Amino acid sequence: MIVALAQGQRIEASAAQRGPKFTCPNCKAPVILKKGRVRTHHFAHKPPTACTWAVGETAAHMKAKNALCEAFRQSGRQAEVEVEVLSTSGDRRADVVVWSRDGKTRVAFEIQHQPLSFEGIEQRTRGYIAANVPVLWMGLLSAKVIDGADLKGGNLVIERYSPRQWEKWAHAFAFKNIWFMDDQGCLWRGVLTSHQIEVPYSSWYNSDGSEESAGGYKRFSKRWRTLTLSGPFQIADLMIKLKDRDPWENKEFKLPKSKVVTLTTKTKA
Ligand SMILES: [Zn+2]
Repeated sequence: MIVALAQGQRIEASAAQRGPKFTCPNCKAPVILKKGRVRTHHFAHKPPTACTWAVGETAAHMKAKNALCEAFRQSGRQAEVEVEVLSTSGDRRADVVVWSRDGKTRVAFEIQHQPLSFEGIEQRTRGYIAANVPVLWMGLLSAKVIDGADLKGGNLVIERYSPRQWEKWAHAFAFKNIWFMDDQGCLWRGVLTSHQIEVPYSSWYNSDGSEESAGGYKRFSKRWRTLTLSGPFQIADLMIKLKDRDPWENKEFKLPKSKVVTLTTKTKA
Protein backbone atom coordinates (compact mmCIF):
# COMPACT_ATOMS: atom_id res chain seq x y z
CA MET A 1 0.00 0.00 0.00
CA ILE A 2 1.56 3.28 -1.12
CA VAL A 3 -1.05 5.74 0.15
CA ALA A 4 -2.30 6.07 3.74
CA LEU A 5 -4.28 8.68 5.64
CA ALA A 6 -2.67 11.10 8.08
CA GLN A 7 -5.23 13.27 9.88
CA GLY A 8 -7.74 12.37 7.20
CA GLN A 9 -5.51 13.45 4.30
CA ARG A 10 -3.97 11.19 1.64
CA ILE A 11 -0.22 10.82 1.98
CA GLU A 12 2.21 8.87 -0.17
CA ALA A 13 4.82 6.79 1.61
CA SER A 14 7.67 8.44 -0.32
CA ALA A 15 6.61 11.85 1.05
CA ALA A 16 5.76 10.65 4.58
CA GLN A 17 8.01 11.06 7.60
CA ARG A 18 7.90 8.93 10.72
CA GLY A 19 5.94 10.45 13.57
CA PRO A 20 2.25 10.96 12.84
CA LYS A 21 -0.30 8.16 13.03
CA PHE A 22 -1.05 6.66 9.63
CA THR A 23 -4.25 4.75 8.94
CA CYS A 24 -5.48 2.54 6.11
CA PRO A 25 -7.96 4.40 3.83
CA ASN A 26 -10.03 1.23 3.60
CA CYS A 27 -10.26 -0.36 7.07
CA LYS A 28 -9.07 2.72 9.03
CA ALA A 29 -6.72 0.56 11.14
CA PRO A 30 -3.24 1.92 11.96
CA VAL A 31 -0.56 1.12 9.37
CA ILE A 32 3.23 1.25 9.63
CA LEU A 33 5.42 3.37 7.36
CA LYS A 34 8.15 1.26 5.71
CA LYS A 35 10.97 3.20 4.16
CA GLY A 36 13.77 0.90 3.13
CA ARG A 37 16.57 1.25 0.64
CA VAL A 38 15.50 -1.56 -1.69
CA ARG A 39 11.73 -1.91 -1.66
CA THR A 40 9.27 0.76 -2.74
CA HIS A 41 8.34 2.99 0.20
CA HIS A 42 5.00 1.76 1.46
CA PHE A 43 2.66 1.25 4.39
CA ALA A 44 1.93 -2.11 5.99
CA HIS A 45 -0.97 -3.33 8.13
CA LYS A 46 -0.18 -4.72 11.58
CA PRO A 47 -0.87 -8.46 11.56
CA PRO A 48 -3.34 -9.99 11.89
CA THR A 49 -5.57 -8.09 9.49
CA ALA A 50 -8.64 -8.98 7.50
CA CYS A 51 -8.37 -5.89 5.27
CA THR A 52 -8.74 -6.70 1.58
CA TRP A 53 -6.16 -4.04 0.75
CA ALA A 54 -3.52 -5.92 2.72
CA VAL A 55 -3.65 -9.19 0.80
CA GLY A 56 -2.02 -10.30 -2.41
CA GLU A 57 0.07 -7.24 -3.10
CA THR A 58 3.56 -8.09 -4.32
CA ALA A 59 6.66 -5.90 -4.18
CA ALA A 60 6.74 -5.98 -8.01
CA HIS A 61 3.19 -4.61 -8.18
CA MET A 62 3.91 -1.77 -5.77
CA LYS A 63 7.10 -0.86 -7.61
CA ALA A 64 5.29 -0.86 -10.96
CA LYS A 65 2.36 1.35 -9.93
CA ASN A 66 4.70 3.79 -8.24
CA ALA A 67 6.90 3.93 -11.38
CA LEU A 68 3.88 4.42 -13.64
CA CYS A 69 2.49 7.27 -11.53
CA GLU A 70 5.90 8.97 -11.33
CA ALA A 71 6.42 8.66 -15.10
CA PHE A 72 3.07 10.36 -15.79
CA ARG A 73 3.93 13.17 -13.37
CA GLN A 74 7.34 13.66 -14.94
CA SER A 75 5.71 13.93 -18.35
CA GLY A 76 3.64 16.81 -17.00
CA ARG A 77 0.39 14.96 -16.31
CA GLN A 78 -1.65 15.08 -13.14
CA ALA A 79 -1.56 11.53 -11.75
CA GLU A 80 -2.36 9.82 -8.43
CA VAL A 81 -1.53 6.36 -7.19
CA GLU A 82 -4.10 4.11 -5.41
CA VAL A 83 -7.25 6.08 -5.99
CA GLU A 84 -10.67 4.92 -4.87
CA VAL A 85 -13.16 5.03 -7.72
CA LEU A 86 -16.73 4.93 -6.46
CA SER A 87 -19.23 3.27 -8.72
CA THR A 88 -22.74 1.86 -8.75
CA SER A 89 -21.27 -1.34 -10.16
CA GLY A 90 -18.75 -2.05 -7.37
CA ASP A 91 -16.13 0.32 -5.99
CA ARG A 92 -12.58 0.00 -7.28
CA ARG A 93 -9.15 1.06 -6.13
CA ALA A 94 -7.28 2.12 -9.27
CA ASP A 95 -3.51 1.61 -9.27
CA VAL A 96 -2.99 4.90 -11.09
CA VAL A 97 -5.44 7.60 -12.19
CA VAL A 98 -4.45 10.22 -14.76
CA TRP A 99 -6.41 13.42 -15.34
CA SER A 100 -7.07 14.95 -18.73
CA ARG A 101 -5.20 18.18 -19.45
CA ASP A 102 -8.33 20.25 -18.71
CA GLY A 103 -8.80 18.38 -15.40
CA LYS A 104 -12.36 17.36 -16.29
CA THR A 105 -11.99 13.64 -16.96
CA ARG A 106 -9.94 10.77 -15.57
CA VAL A 107 -8.65 7.46 -16.86
CA ALA A 108 -7.51 4.53 -14.73
CA PHE A 109 -4.54 2.20 -15.15
CA GLU A 110 -4.67 -1.23 -13.58
CA ILE A 111 -1.49 -3.26 -13.37
CA GLN A 112 -2.55 -6.88 -13.20
CA HIS A 113 0.04 -9.17 -11.73
CA GLN A 114 -2.06 -12.11 -10.56
CA PRO A 115 -4.30 -14.47 -12.50
CA LEU A 116 -7.83 -13.10 -13.00
CA SER A 117 -10.77 -14.83 -14.66
CA PHE A 118 -12.73 -13.56 -17.66
CA GLU A 119 -15.64 -12.81 -15.33
CA GLY A 120 -13.37 -11.06 -12.81
CA ILE A 121 -11.86 -8.62 -15.26
CA GLU A 122 -15.22 -7.97 -16.94
CA GLN A 123 -16.86 -7.17 -13.61
CA ARG A 124 -14.02 -4.85 -12.56
CA THR A 125 -14.10 -3.09 -15.91
CA ARG A 126 -17.87 -2.60 -15.57
CA GLY A 127 -17.20 -0.89 -12.23
CA TYR A 128 -15.00 1.64 -14.01
CA ILE A 129 -17.49 2.10 -16.85
CA ALA A 130 -20.28 2.85 -14.36
CA ALA A 131 -18.02 5.48 -12.71
CA ASN A 132 -17.26 6.98 -16.12
CA VAL A 133 -13.55 6.32 -15.64
CA PRO A 134 -12.24 4.31 -18.61
CA VAL A 135 -9.58 1.74 -17.67
CA LEU A 136 -6.47 0.35 -19.32
CA TRP A 137 -5.26 -3.06 -18.11
CA MET A 138 -1.51 -3.55 -18.12
CA GLY A 139 0.65 -6.60 -17.42
CA LEU A 140 4.14 -6.95 -16.02
CA LEU A 141 6.86 -8.33 -18.23
CA SER A 142 9.60 -10.24 -16.46
CA ALA A 143 13.22 -10.18 -17.56
CA LYS A 144 12.86 -13.94 -18.10
CA VAL A 145 10.13 -13.47 -20.73
CA ILE A 146 12.15 -10.75 -22.51
CA ASP A 147 15.30 -12.89 -22.45
CA GLY A 148 13.41 -15.78 -24.04
CA ALA A 149 12.11 -13.65 -26.93
CA ASP A 150 13.46 -13.64 -30.48
CA LEU A 151 14.33 -10.37 -32.20
CA LYS A 152 12.41 -10.16 -35.48
CA GLY A 153 12.02 -7.04 -37.59
CA GLY A 154 12.79 -4.79 -34.63
CA ASN A 155 10.19 -6.47 -32.40
CA LEU A 156 10.52 -9.00 -29.63
CA VAL A 157 8.63 -12.17 -30.50
CA ILE A 158 7.65 -14.86 -28.03
CA GLU A 159 6.55 -17.72 -30.27
CA ARG A 160 4.86 -19.74 -27.56
CA TYR A 161 3.12 -17.58 -24.98
CA SER A 162 0.32 -18.93 -22.83
CA PRO A 163 -1.84 -15.90 -22.02
CA ARG A 164 -3.85 -15.72 -18.84
CA GLN A 165 -7.61 -15.26 -19.12
CA TRP A 166 -7.43 -11.59 -18.20
CA GLU A 167 -4.73 -11.02 -20.83
CA LYS A 168 -6.88 -12.50 -23.59
CA TRP A 169 -9.79 -10.38 -22.42
CA ALA A 170 -7.80 -7.14 -22.11
CA HIS A 171 -6.21 -7.70 -25.52
CA ALA A 172 -9.60 -8.12 -27.18
CA PHE A 173 -11.09 -5.22 -25.21
CA ALA A 174 -8.32 -2.80 -26.24
CA PHE A 175 -8.65 -3.55 -29.97
CA LYS A 176 -6.00 -6.28 -30.04
CA ASN A 177 -3.40 -4.49 -27.98
CA ILE A 178 -2.08 -5.25 -24.54
CA TRP A 179 0.45 -3.09 -22.74
CA PHE A 180 3.15 -4.40 -20.45
CA MET A 181 5.67 -2.75 -18.14
CA ASP A 182 9.13 -4.25 -17.79
CA ASP A 183 11.17 -4.17 -14.59
CA GLN A 184 12.99 -1.05 -15.82
CA GLY A 185 9.68 0.85 -15.93
CA CYS A 186 9.52 0.89 -19.76
CA LEU A 187 6.33 0.06 -21.64
CA TRP A 188 5.83 -2.50 -24.42
CA ARG A 189 2.86 -2.87 -26.75
CA GLY A 190 1.90 -6.51 -27.18
CA VAL A 191 -0.14 -8.16 -29.91
CA LEU A 192 -1.34 -11.74 -29.58
CA THR A 193 -1.77 -13.81 -32.72
CA SER A 194 -2.70 -17.44 -33.16
CA HIS A 195 0.12 -19.93 -32.92
CA GLN A 196 0.34 -22.71 -35.47
CA ILE A 197 1.55 -26.18 -34.61
CA GLU A 198 2.92 -28.38 -37.35
CA VAL A 199 1.55 -31.92 -37.36
CA PRO A 200 4.25 -33.89 -39.21
CA TYR A 201 3.34 -36.19 -42.04
CA SER A 202 3.72 -39.90 -41.43
CA SER A 203 2.61 -43.02 -43.24
CA TRP A 204 2.56 -46.67 -42.30
CA TYR A 205 1.42 -50.06 -43.55
CA ASN A 206 -1.24 -52.11 -41.89
CA SER A 207 -0.84 -55.86 -41.45
CA ASP A 208 -2.94 -56.43 -44.59
CA GLY A 209 -0.42 -54.37 -46.61
CA SER A 210 -2.67 -51.29 -47.02
CA GLU A 211 -1.03 -47.90 -46.60
CA GLU A 212 -2.32 -45.19 -44.31
CA SER A 213 -1.06 -41.72 -43.56
CA ALA A 214 -1.69 -38.82 -41.18
CA GLY A 215 -0.42 -35.33 -40.51
CA GLY A 216 1.31 -33.06 -42.95
CA TYR A 217 -0.72 -30.02 -41.94
CA LYS A 218 -0.76 -27.17 -39.45
CA ARG A 219 -3.33 -26.53 -36.77
CA PHE A 220 -3.98 -23.65 -34.41
CA SER A 221 -2.87 -24.23 -30.85
CA LYS A 222 -5.55 -23.84 -28.16
CA ARG A 223 -3.02 -23.05 -25.48
CA TRP A 224 -0.32 -21.06 -27.21
CA ARG A 225 -0.36 -17.65 -28.81
CA THR A 226 2.48 -15.73 -30.39
CA LEU A 227 3.18 -12.50 -28.50
CA THR A 228 4.83 -9.74 -30.51
CA LEU A 229 6.16 -6.85 -28.46
CA SER A 230 7.10 -3.45 -29.80
CA GLY A 231 9.01 -1.03 -27.62
CA PRO A 232 10.42 -0.08 -25.25
CA PHE A 233 8.41 3.12 -24.87
CA GLN A 234 8.67 5.85 -22.27
CA ILE A 235 5.44 7.31 -20.88
CA ALA A 236 6.57 10.77 -22.03
CA ASP A 237 6.53 9.52 -25.64
CA LEU A 238 2.97 8.21 -25.48
CA MET A 239 -0.39 9.92 -25.74
CA ILE A 240 -3.60 8.80 -24.07
CA LYS A 241 -6.56 8.55 -26.42
CA LEU A 242 -10.08 7.28 -25.95
CA LYS A 243 -11.85 5.12 -28.47
CA ASP A 244 -15.43 3.83 -28.37
CA ARG A 245 -16.05 0.13 -28.50
CA ASP A 246 -19.31 -1.73 -29.04
CA PRO A 247 -20.31 -4.77 -26.99
CA TRP A 248 -18.92 -8.03 -28.36
CA GLU A 249 -18.82 -11.63 -27.27
CA ASN A 250 -17.41 -14.98 -28.24
CA LYS A 251 -17.70 -18.45 -26.69
CA GLU A 252 -15.33 -17.56 -23.86
CA PHE A 253 -16.11 -14.03 -22.73
CA LYS A 254 -18.08 -10.80 -23.16
CA LEU A 255 -16.81 -7.29 -23.78
CA PRO A 256 -19.02 -4.41 -22.63
CA LYS A 257 -19.71 -1.21 -24.54
CA SER A 258 -17.11 1.25 -23.27
CA LYS A 259 -14.65 3.97 -23.90
CA VAL A 260 -11.31 2.24 -24.29
CA VAL A 261 -8.04 3.85 -23.20
CA THR A 262 -5.38 3.55 -25.86
CA LEU A 263 -1.76 4.65 -25.83
CA THR A 264 -0.36 5.92 -29.08
CA THR A 265 3.11 7.02 -30.00
CA LYS A 266 3.55 10.73 -30.58
CA THR A 267 4.29 11.43 -34.21
CA LYS A 268 7.35 13.57 -34.66
CA ALA A 269 6.66 16.97 -36.14
ZN1 LIG B 1 -6.83 -1.75 5.67
